[in-house]
Amino acid sequence: METKLEINRHPCFNAEVKGECGRVHLPVAPKCNILCNYCNRKFDCVNESRPGVSSAVLNPYQAVSYLEQVLAKEPRITVAGIAGPGDPFANPKATMKTIRLVRERFPEILICLASNGLGLLPHLEELAELAVSHVTITVNAVDPEIGQKIYGWVRDGKEIHRGLEGADLLLRRQLEAIAGLKSLGVTVKVNTIVIPGVNDQHVAAVARRMASLKVDVLNLMPVYPNADTPFAEVPEPAAAQMTALREKAARFLPQIRHCTRCRADAVGLLEEDRGEELRSCLTACARLVPGSDARPYVAVATKEGMLVNLHLGEAPSFQIWGLNGQGFKLVEERPAPPAGAGAQRWWDLAEVLKDCRAVLVSALGETPRTILEECGIQPLEMGGFIELGLQAVYQGSPLEILKGRRGGLARGCSGPGSRRGCDA
Ligand code: SF4
Ligand code: SF4
Repeated sequence: METKLEINRHPCFNAEVKGECGRVHLPVAPKCNILCNYCNRKFDCVNESRPGVSSAVLNPYQAVSYLEQVLAKEPRITVAGIAGPGDPFANPKATMKTIRLVRERFPEILICLASNGLGLLPHLEELAELAVSHVTITVNAVDPEIGQKIYGWVRDGKEIHRGLEGADLLLRRQLEAIAGLKSLGVTVKVNTIVIPGVNDQHVAAVARRMASLKVDVLNLMPVYPNADTPFAEVPEPAAAQMTALREKAARFLPQIRHCTRCRADAVGLLEEDRGEELRSCLTACARLVPGSDARPYVAVATKEGMLVNLHLGEAPSFQIWGLNGQGFKLVEERPAPPAGAGAQRWWDLAEVLKDCRAVLVSALGETPRTILEECGIQPLEMGGFIELGLQAVYQGSPLEILKGRRGGLARGCSGPGSRRGCDA
């Protein structure tokens, strides 16, 4: 990259700037590829402040629009991070697209990722090309015998690995990812969740191994006992125990002592989080398609012109609706591309609907959803009156009003619950 990044202006890696530099997390990665026995990724629990929790999930375009708005309100932000609410590389398309868009639009911002490391390796070169300067990998054990107590399963592609085999696979990938990142000059932090009775006696071994890989800094984090998880009853380590462990680990690596255990949608300075204040901005961005001025219309899959009642793949044509003063008007009807051309059909449909910010359908599959989102068209799954869907898109009325109607809306526009198994 041409632009010289000021890599010291990262408040998580450099405590000296934590009072003047802030970070924003872009929650674009809902799925995860492993199961940590302490994790319960509930959405929208605003009382909880911990990783894995977010009030909304954004697509890459929405994330950039959100970032623009956040920077206008909080210019002290120097870092855009992706930290879930799942794992960035369990959602590689959304993650990499977001990074590309952010780097193009904000050449000077620091880009940071926090991952379990399992799926990072294939993206190593591109991350370096896009000048991703800071990566955090969570390594809880460097011995699979201990790791197997921490992970419920590890999913590699379509295969699920459990027990020793899963822990061993995860560890190998983590070590390769860290070595690769360091060889490309990326600053690497390792997070280790301290779980009393499980890995607390193992922390020095983790620190020693990470030091041998030239990791820059270690962040020991006390486990957070989450309800409905296998570690729900494990006590949170006391402050004195954490201090003693950090002293031990400091023999091998510098320690982070100012971590605030932030959420996957955290924003602001570490000690002056503005998440509460900017939550409405985040949820509004999750509903609306950025660049909507260039996309004045909404497409609708309907049989008779009153209800949203056709699956995307069943619709022979789409009604195109626009604004008319305070109300809505039907602009025209456009034929859908012919069925049977595989994924090309959805790229053709995106071209047909290129002036639409959203498409209202009763249901759609994973492939068309991904392609339409890639092209900046937000699919909304719903049932009921077209007008209610138009109000949700244009006026930001709560999508919840459409819940319970045929087809229902699954957690806003792009939460994991909205995915369906079919591809049409
Ligand atoms: Fe990066 Fe973690 Fe800091 Fe977020 S909290 S900016 S992911 S180091
Ligand atoms: Fe949860 Fe993160 Fe572990 Fe995935 S990697 S299970 S999101 S804590």
